[in-house]
Amino acid sequence: MNYLVDEKGFYGDFGGAFIPEMLHANIEELRNHYMGIIYDPDFQDEMQDLLKNYVGRPSPLYHAKRMSKHFGTTIYLKREDLNHTGAHKINNTIGQILLAQKLGKKRIIAETGAGQHGVATATVCALMGLECIVYMGEVDIARQAPNVSRMRMLGAEVRPATSGSKTLKDATNEAIRDWINNPTDTHYIIGSVVGPHPYPDMVARFQAIISKEMRWQLKEQTGSELPDIIIACVGGGSNAAGAYYHYLDEPDVRLIAVEAAGLGIHSGESAATSVLGSKGIIHGSRTLLMQTDDGQIVEPYSISAGLDYPGIGPMHAHLIDSGRAEAVSVTDDEALDSAFLVTRLEGIIPALESAHAFAAMDKIKYNADDTVVINLSGRGDKDLSTYIKKLDQA
Ligand SMILES: *Cc1c(COP(=O)(O)O)cnc(C)c1O
Repeated sequence: MNYLVDEKGFYGDFGGAFIPEMLHANIEELRNHYMGIIYDPDFQDEMQDLLKNYVGRPSPLYHAKRMSKHFGTTIYLKREDLNHTGAHKINNTIGQILLAQKLGKKRIIAETGAGQHGVATATVCALMGLECIVYMGEVDIARQAPNVSRMRMLGAEVRPATSGSKTLKDATNEAIRDWINNPTDTHYIIGSVVGPHPYPDMVARFQAIISKEMRWQLKEQTGSELPDIIIACVGGGSNAAGAYYHYLDEPDVRLIAVEAAGLGIHSGESAATSVLGSKGIIHGSRTLLMQTDDGQIVEPYSISAGLDYPGIGPMHAHLIDSGRAEAVSVTDDEALDSAFLVTRLEGIIPALESAHAFAAMDKIKYNADDTVVINLSGRGDKDLSTYIKKLDQA
């Protein structure tokens, strides 16, 4: 079984590039050049230097002893929360900004929901001195004010998306419209393993540094490069793709994909795409998405803005569909409890997204002699107001 993308841009039944004709030239340019550019030795040198000295990689693999004791198995945390800007997203934006430069692009656009990808993009644009425009739903601009201020301070222009539900999917539509109108000088940095081919593959390759490091770090600490279980949360699926990448062809390593169940899978307020979703096309790829009978996208809901997406990347749709990955869903309340548990056991305040991954420990079977790696995708500073509400209720 092959879990990586094929020649045509598909993962089994999923993927492809279902785009308007007016985007064809942009996507073709990327498709023809991305592999040649990113595996060029000079590009690799430049990227590795930035990942080391700017982002702070390798991120530690930390043996969480108190948590291990609590759950009765051996747990390691891959500390993506310690990266510059506080999450894994910068691994991808560093890669894509260097790629944009090699393609001779002068202007960068991005979409953002909670603002995390917007901040990571604005950061690398400041680093490289490139113009940056971030599309963001009007509703999200109002509820994610600190990230809007960060992007502005970094020199980015935040443009409101005022159509539809005024959230992430509308911001994505605006970004695509911009790209159609500015095909020659602009690169569109997509923030997860979603969108038309080659984006899912390209973003997965940039995030694959996570599992590349895990292999030698585990070898150093346990004597084996292979854990028994890897757990990661899935919004679009980029941190999970990175954590799984170098283990896809190791069938003994179980891959757990954790989705947000919001107020409950069948509450009508959820983002548990693998359970509620069906095959369809969203943002240029065929994948699993939450849709009505007549194919309209259903608004997703999760307490964590990063998991609040109505689809999953095509790679994950295939991993789950083929049985290679196991999907688990976790509610808002379970994630919140987990965030407090981890904080008090390890002195680490996780992002709400990452807290979903931790909560999966209560839902999966494991053995006392297993080695479990949980990908800690980001830090919890951005979620403090949610955590404070819970503290005030206690
Ligand atoms: C954006 C984000 C996610 C979800 O995105 P993926 O592409 O699924 O990784 C998860 N965790 C954090 C901290 C994020 O910022």
